[in-house]
Amino acid sequence: MRALIALLLPLVATAAADYDILIRNARVIDGSGNPWFRADVAIKDGRIAAVGHLLEASAGRTIDARERIVAPGFIDVHVHVEGNLERSPAAENFLRDGVTTVITGNCGGSELNLAQWFQKIEKLGLGVNVGSLVGHNTVRREVMGAANRLATADEIERMQSLVDRAMLDGAVGFSTGLEYVPGTYSNTAEVVALARAAAAHGGVYTSHMRDEGIHEIEAITEALNVGKEAGLPVEISHLKIDRRSVWGASDQSLALIEKYRREGVEVIADQYPYDRAATNLGIRLPSWALAEGKIKERLADAETRAKIAVAMKRSLAEMGEPDYSFATVARFTPKPAYEGKTITEITATNGRPAGVDGDIETIFEMMSAGGASMIYRLMGEADIERIMRYPYTAVASDGGVTEMGSGNPHPRSYGTNARVLSEYVRVRGVLTLPDAVRRMTSLPAQMFRLRGRGLVREGMAADLVIFDPARVEDKATFARPHQYSAGFDYVLVNGKVAIDDGRMSSDRGGVVVRRGR
Ligand SMILES: [Zn+2]
Repeated sequence: MRALIALLLPLVATAAADYDILIRNARVIDGSGNPWFRADVAIKDGRIAAVGHLLEASAGRTIDARERIVAPGFIDVHVHVEGNLERSPAAENFLRDGVTTVITGNCGGSELNLAQWFQKIEKLGLGVNVGSLVGHNTVRREVMGAANRLATADEIERMQSLVDRAMLDGAVGFSTGLEYVPGTYSNTAEVVALARAAAAHGGVYTSHMRDEGIHEIEAITEALNVGKEAGLPVEISHLKIDRRSVWGASDQSLALIEKYRREGVEVIADQYPYDRAATNLGIRLPSWALAEGKIKERLADAETRAKIAVAMKRSLAEMGEPDYSFATVARFTPKPAYEGKTITEITATNGRPAGVDGDIETIFEMMSAGGASMIYRLMGEADIERIMRYPYTAVASDGGVTEMGSGNPHPRSYGTNARVLSEYVRVRGVLTLPDAVRRMTSLPAQMFRLRGRGLVREGMAADLVIFDPARVEDKATFARPHQYSAGFDYVLVNGKVAIDDGRMSSDRGGVVVRRGR
């Protein structure tokens, strides 16, 4: 009999509880931009069930927030997790930076068959919610390979049907990476035609623009005209000024964005809070040199090799850089010893003549061996702060799922949100805390039509973070990137406690986020 009572007691206790989890003594920053208010937050069946004075309520578990901030989990709408998410589905680097939802497929690169990919990752036990865009480069490569020419009407139609398919499979929109092969070979009409296919389903258009420096005004004009003509909202990806020679020009970029908003184009931007970019090595070469994937053959031909070098020198001079010391190797599998070194340092160790010519030879050696992932020091702090202050700039990492200790990744994958909250809110006072949280939550949720996320409100998904704003801090640096952010003591994903009092739990609450849901 006693055994039976012991068995029944937990059942009785559970049945009597009003909620699954009750967070008491919270200072709630609800994601709207409003200041904190005192409340308890109750969770039931993965959703926020009540927010308010819940003195009488009972719950299966109570978490004492002890006056810490309770905010919506952060929504990072600019990530690249294809491939790395499958290896590390818990996505601990994102969770430990307060992120509970990511949108991947940015910069023109996504999975082609999203239905299949969603099905696959759904079974892995996702740490965070995952949604995806469909990428222009992905569909163009499928239809045209890496051909350096405009698309025919028939090819555009085939690309449109691939975009249409992806949207039906739940993509949240369409992305371009117009600085990359093969999207760089397209014209605006092609982008408009494909964006229309996404617009038909209520998708968003995210643009890694054709240029982020000297020709940025033309690039913004193109991106926003796509939105205007195709009839869909535009997110300008990782807005920046990435040329020393035009540092300060972000005021003109923002003025142009405002002009379009006044004309009725729905547009916002996103930004990562660092002065260095991370992308491939090939982007330093003229795009014609990369067509058809034949860089090795072109470099083997003396005349073409010289032509590529001339184009690179011209672009370097335009950038205002004396040499390639702004370029650090993040990952180069043929020679891991290069990782963490600048091109200029590698040139010196290899006994090549110092200066641009030697640097270009180093780059050619690496391109012939398959290329590399790079980190480029290109942005100025005045532009970073000005873009951050713009009210419609969301915080997004442009990062991926990391493997602790592997390679030399950009620290943004570990520390984007913590860095905004510590460096730009607490130390420099560039943003207020509620405004920073808004840019991490309700602003991106609204733009990507993620209904049911991004606010602490009854009925919303229980994606929540608990942190002490005095203690939250990014730890990852360029020299030592593999360090988790500190200060996010609890992170809940759909009501599952993923970070529990600072420790990673085995509970995985992430789901696939399909358009409109
Ligand atoms: Zn990009």
